Amino acid sequence: MMAIAWTKAALALMPRIITRRSVIKNAPRRFREQYTDGARRSHTGESYSQMHEKLASIDLETCDRSAIDDVIGNNSWTQLTCEICDCDREALVSIPREYSEPISICLECAKGVQAVFEDAQS
Ligand SMILES: [Zn+2]
Repeated sequence: MMAIAWTKAALALMPRIITRRSVIKNAPRRFREQYTDGARRSHTGESYSQMHEKLASIDLETCDRSAIDDVIGNNSWTQLTCEICDCDREALVSIPREYSEPISICLECAKGVQAVFEDAQS
């Protein structure tokens, strides 16, 4: 009984990969959910409904991030920023935490942490 409860908790806290492609694929939906007033104009001068239509016409499986960025007028919706080094990366691992928001880190920072462990053991 105790072991099963522990396993469920461990599964809930399993790290997962976040890729640039997944961020690109989710960007139009997230943008639509944030900007629901389609009649309102954005800083680009277009209405949000025009922007939603343009975003909906993009092939999210193959497009570059610039296709999204050009419609929105900035690159904040396709960024994937490591919370340790602040670099914009192609992939991060999101590490859930029991009592806080997950933390997302890049492979380079994870390797840096590993190196500290290895140095401590030698
Ligand atoms: Zn990093």
